[in-house]
Amino acid sequence: MKITVIGTGYVGLVSGACLAEMGNDVLCLDLDASKIARLKDGQIPIFEPDLDGVVARNVAARRLHFTTDVEEAVRFGTIQFIAVGTPPDEDGSADLQYVLAAARNIGRLMTDYKVIVDKSTVPVGTADKVHAAIADELAKRDVQLPYSVVSNPEFLKEGAAVEDFMKPDRIVIGADDDRAIHLMRALYAPFQRNRDKLLVMDVRSAELTKYAANAMLATRISFMNELALLAEKLGADIELVRQGIGSDPRIGYSFLYAGCGYGGSCFPKDVKALIRTGNDNGHALQVLTAVEAANDTQKSVLEKKLVQRFGEDLRGHHFALWGLAFKPDTDDMREAPSLVLIEALLARGATICAYDPVAMTEAKRVLGERPSLGYASTPDNALEGADALVIVTEWKEFRSPDFSRIKKQLRHPVVVDGRNIYQPALVAGFDLEYYSIGRKQAE
Ligand code: NAD
Repeated sequence: MKITVIGTGYVGLVSGACLAEMGNDVLCLDLDASKIARLKDGQIPIFEPDLDGVVARNVAARRLHFTTDVEEAVRFGTIQFIAVGTPPDEDGSADLQYVLAAARNIGRLMTDYKVIVDKSTVPVGTADKVHAAIADELAKRDVQLPYSVVSNPEFLKEGAAVEDFMKPDRIVIGADDDRAIHLMRALYAPFQRNRDKLLVMDVRSAELTKYAANAMLATRISFMNELALLAEKLGADIELVRQGIGSDPRIGYSFLYAGCGYGGSCFPKDVKALIRTGNDNGHALQVLTAVEAANDTQKSVLEKKLVQRFGEDLRGHHFALWGLAFKPDTDDMREAPSLVLIEALLARGATICAYDPVAMTEAKRVLGERPSLGYASTPDNALEGADALVIVTEWKEFRSPDFSRIKKQLRHPVVVDGRNIYQPALVAGFDLEYYSIGRKQAE
């Protein structure tokens, strides 16, 4: 099949590359000329495990192409995926300007039947707006052409995006016309050979499904984070509680880890957008409003622990930070808890040396040059002369460190772990003071 993917970010590039991997002819469009230039040059603009191999293989096989030419892109694919960003607007709602601009381009330039697939996360009612934008452009041209608009939200996780796209748990298709459903079934058939994963539903339900999924996951995290803070007050251990409840199949183990708050490009904005949708429809989402508030509180939890240990005024104090990305296996810094912590510590006069295996370039871009913020080339180098080690992202390479070396390099023997990656008794065995989330400090 001939497919155009509009927007070549985390979702667009992964979708395009994986669809090409199954033998389709894919043209990826982006308005960011530097991104397309890098891709044409064989560089991958984001860090995503296995993506480089899939892209290289399909470029070499001439199934995957990149362009900034909107007209070429619209003419190319019968299926036009819209995978552009939907960032939060000032009022919390999803900003649809990029989605609707893409839709208008399609209406302005299409010459034959198209299936327009909303892959971006968009509020309920967006498919109607996409439909109307295309109809408007066709009317301006005084032509009538057939087209279908389908909702196909994406559930991939950054850090495992290729794996998730190639082996999806489910494929949600919101559509109400048979021709489009038939095409989508054929397109996704190779991704579901062992069982039928296609959930075909009406467009509005599909649009809401994506928000419901992210809102549910965010809810689990905030719930555990709130309980973790209570556990600290009660002298209980949230890790034991997590196992105690996760073993119930009705609850399950996933997404029950207490930490220093959820971040990333999806949960914060999607929770906000769904709250906004609720308010716009006269139905305040009380649970979700609390989920968001709890997460805001949680993003300050590491700062609070450092203040408790070193005092309100952190001038003259220097901290080592391990982990900057919002989660492991990505370089994505959007809404990362590290950003909140870094701003708070710098505002209190501290200095910081940070290390992250892949996100330092992106962190430098986002945070800019700060005299009090340095970056280390290894985790060890970051520790030199620090008053405490603070773990913000649970990268695998931080899980089994040499604690005696940590002890030797730190000025104070303090480890503050925002992801509960160590056993308190083990760390205490090295004469390190160990503070984590929702657990007692080991004696
Ligand atoms: P991104 O910011 O990484 O990429 C978006 C790309 O679209 C950018 O490269 C931008 O230049 C391009 N673009 C914007 N307007 C364009 C236009 N009119 N024509 C062509 N290109 C255009 O975004 P992302 O993280 O890939 O997210 C895309 C959408 O998918 C969002 O709605 C997001 O919520 C959703 N989503 C993201 C993830 C994720 O893990 N990142 C997962 C599931 C769903």
